[in-house]
Amino acid sequence: MKFTEFGFDPRLMEGIDASGYEDATPVQEQVIPLVMQGKDVIASAQTGTGKTAAFLLPLIHKIISTPHEDHTNNALVVVPTRELAIQIAQNLEGLSYFTSVSSIAVYGGGDGNAFVQEKKALSQGADLVICTPGKMMSHIKMGYVKLSGLKYLVLDEADRMLDMGFYDDIMFIIKHLPPKRQNLLFSATMPPKIRELARKILHQPAEVNIAISKPNERIRQEAFVVYDTQKIPLVKYLLQKKEFKSVLIFCSSKLSVKQLTRDLKRARLNADEIHSDLDQEKREEVLMRFRSRRLPILVATDILSRGIDIDNIELVINYDVPHDGEDYVHRIGRTARAEADGTAYTFVSQREQRKFQAIERLIGNVVPKATIPPELGETPSYNTAPSGGNRSGKRRFNKPRSNRNKTR
Ligand code: AMP
Repeated sequence: MKFTEFGFDPRLMEGIDASGYEDATPVQEQVIPLVMQGKDVIASAQTGTGKTAAFLLPLIHKIISTPHEDHTNNALVVVPTRELAIQIAQNLEGLSYFTSVSSIAVYGGGDGNAFVQEKKALSQGADLVICTPGKMMSHIKMGYVKLSGLKYLVLDEADRMLDMGFYDDIMFIIKHLPPKRQNLLFSATMPPKIRELARKILHQPAEVNIAISKPNERIRQEAFVVYDTQKIPLVKYLLQKKEFKSVLIFCSSKLSVKQLTRDLKRARLNADEIHSDLDQEKREEVLMRFRSRRLPILVATDILSRGIDIDNIELVINYDVPHDGEDYVHRIGRTARAEADGTAYTFVSQREQRKFQAIERLIGNVVPKATIPPELGETPSYNTAPSGGNRSGKRRFNKPRSNRNKTR
């Protein structure tokens, strides 16, 4: 479906053209007409499906083409992380470039200057406010946020927000909004607690289901079954064997992010780290270097697994097995974005084997196992028996692989 078919304002069409979008993605095709009709929507759609533009485009169109009060905030987009808020704000800037839409991103970790700017925008009224729940709640509590004319509420990555414990903050924000408004809820997964939230907030919503709990087929996935002590030598081996332009390594704790980064630096690899102990400025600076390819290796906690859009990551390494299948899909989904292909390696230690088997069941696929180079020593066997892993998988695990195939 072409964007010309939605009946968007010509100024918005210019921004869409300039952003290089030609055809609408499936989530856009389904969500945009519903939002244009004024319906509440609950959509299960993951990052990478084009969900951001699915809500931004119709909201920008409505804001610029219908009369509205100037001195109020018009639309509120609530998101789980600062990084996602910044990314959506950047997306918005591109799409709305030829319009007069005003916007502000409101998130924690900024300095006094950022606070003054946020306060000013929120008390004068911005067309679109993109915010993290905690920071928005603090502003509302101070009493100057103009919400009387607010017409649109978007909850993005709602499942993630609930996982992060933002339920009360979200409900606090909603209590301060006018009851008559259009509500959109996006979530990668639809567990019962999201349904419950939707029942409380949405009014006769239309439902759109684009969730793909399966990894993109263009991602080449491999797992290395290793002992914990082999993880660092293996990561160094893989990174030294081939010069990658862009590698994202996920660890499940800040501690292992820090330790691994230190080891990689010692091995003279150009690596840096990102996690919640860094201040906002440092996080943005690291991300910018990574995006612009000046930094080829970034070691991260799950802070980056969802929502962050960095193009053309060649390789994702799961240094630890992610907690569940959704996290796995999100993490490896950082590669093979847009048209590019990508590779995802997962290191599976002995105690992580069960967790990884559960992931394989969830994604409905057995991830091929690669053997590590002999100089890194013997590896444990992959025990598929106890929790009823699927049989075809067993056959594949035992298939010998040549050294050349293993680590490329
Ligand atoms: P999202 O799922 O919103 O994070 O979007 C993923 C990426 O797809 C972003 O880089 C968007 O700019 C891009 N994108 C969104 N919609 C389209 C489209 N219709 N055509 C091409 N790229 C798009």
